[in-house]
Amino acid sequence: MIKPSKYDRLDIPVVRHETDVLIVGGGAAGTMAAFECADAGIAVIQATKGRATSGTTTVARGGFAAAMGKDDSPELHLHDILKYGGELIDPELARVWVYDIVDVVRDLESWGAEFIRGADGQLDLKMFPSHSRARACHHYDTTGNMITKVLSKKLRADARIEKHSITAIVDLIKQDGRVVGAWGVDYQNGTLVIYHAQQVILCTGGGSGLFYVNDNPPQVTGDGYVLGFRAGVPLLGIEMIDFQAMCCSPKALFGFAPHPTGFINAGAVFRNQAGEEFLKRYFPDTAEESTRSEVILAMAKEIHAGRATSTGGIFMDATKVPMEIIQKQIPHVYKTCLHRGIDITKTPLEVAPGSHTWLGGLEVDVDGKTPVEGLFAAGETAGGIHGGNRIGGSALSASLVFGRRAGRKAAALVKEERVDLAGAEDGAIPESERAWLASLMSRNSGPLQSDVRTACLMLAHNKLGPIREGPTLKEALAEYERFD
Ligand SMILES: Cc1cc2nc3c(=O)[nH]c(=O)nc-3n(C[C@H](O)[C@H](O)[C@H](O)COP(=O)(O)OP(=O)(O)OC[C@H]3O[C@@H](n4cnc5c(N)ncnc54)[C@H](O)[C@@H]3O)c2cc1C
Repeated sequence: MIKPSKYDRLDIPVVRHETDVLIVGGGAAGTMAAFECADAGIAVIQATKGRATSGTTTVARGGFAAAMGKDDSPELHLHDILKYGGELIDPELARVWVYDIVDVVRDLESWGAEFIRGADGQLDLKMFPSHSRARACHHYDTTGNMITKVLSKKLRADARIEKHSITAIVDLIKQDGRVVGAWGVDYQNGTLVIYHAQQVILCTGGGSGLFYVNDNPPQVTGDGYVLGFRAGVPLLGIEMIDFQAMCCSPKALFGFAPHPTGFINAGAVFRNQAGEEFLKRYFPDTAEESTRSEVILAMAKEIHAGRATSTGGIFMDATKVPMEIIQKQIPHVYKTCLHRGIDITKTPLEVAPGSHTWLGGLEVDVDGKTPVEGLFAAGETAGGIHGGNRIGGSALSASLVFGRRAGRKAAALVKEERVDLAGAEDGAIPESERAWLASLMSRNSGPLQSDVRTACLMLAHNKLGPIREGPTLKEALAEYERFD
């Protein structure tokens, strides 16, 4: 229900909405949650900073894991997850996930998902590293794009779900210790928005966009972690970030992940700012056999020690590698770079550890419910699911499953018991936040917002990357406080 808009003292219209469930985010997790709420017959609003279906889900590539093969079972899948994820995993979360994902794959297919099948009509399941069975359902290298089209089509056709796109949630609203809504900014209409809701589900994805080098869409900036943490939800394993080698130069390739081991196998060299082939210093006898994580760690150490190029990376140089070897070892990378105007046989790439996915997040139970009443989290925003090492194809798989579970449980709670939201009416946007917004809007001097943003991203790149030490973390904290 939309209540009449009124103006606050910032002269920005404030629009108020009341709903049963507010879902924040429109990736795999948020959209699966929305379908569940709509099917349960309750009122649901989905607010998304990006477009209605957006986020990292749109760019997911190789596929996601589900025990669908004849020689496979959810128990084998569970075994692999627990073996590599370590003790930070909550086994109960992993257990419901490996069973549910099998049903989710079937539902996605019934909605039109085109997973690749072999000539025998069976799913063509890919073998991913650290899995004991081939179990990645895929649509070649564009699985996320295919899933997004399916979810987006179904979402557009469902008039029961109110979609508020280009609307960023800024904070949650609490009353008597429980979450009763959220407020944010509707950039499309230039208004502030206040949502009063029986239950709120945070599905804002990970936090990769906080790092200068990353391969995520720009809206993915860790908002859900902050919203939940401020509301009192513990963060689990939030320091666990999957860094991959990504291009920071040339600009046309920014964020592209060119697989360093492929380059090493082809005979490319890695050089720091001084031109030194530094892998030989770290691995005197085995530089040519370095694994992906060894290269990323060595790269991070060079950057940390101040031996990075002016773009913050290190050189990955294949200019002396013969063309026939390039064609054999890294044909896909060669073609992608050429497509963006860069010939790797002529131009060295500059690469750095970039943030790919976040493994930890807000504490949740098997239904995505956080310890704070009225608040759920799912997808990359939730923690305890992947531990310290997420095996391939797990992120999208878990986002689909826990988004669905959170939506289902939130809807059930709404039906069980309704909270009186009348008291949440006043002071939804705290005075301190209004004053902060007013000062931002009336500011006509000081640093540009874009400069502050770049400085924050570089700070994370330089001090919060794969190498973290007490003194540097303290320095970073002091710097962030100075920005504030
Ligand atoms: C290049 C790349 C390839 C990948 N390939 C794979 C793969 O092959 N297999 C796999 O399993 N995983 C893969 N992943 C990881 C996987 O895609 C993600 O972990 C997963 O899709 C996350 O889904 P999500 O729903 O949690 O979040 P997202 O899909 O990121 O959605 C987040 C949503 O939240 C919204 N949002 C953010 N902040 C706010 C706010 N303040 N207010 C309102 N809305 C907000 C965004 O607009 C967006 O709609 C890949 C990741 C990357 C970067």
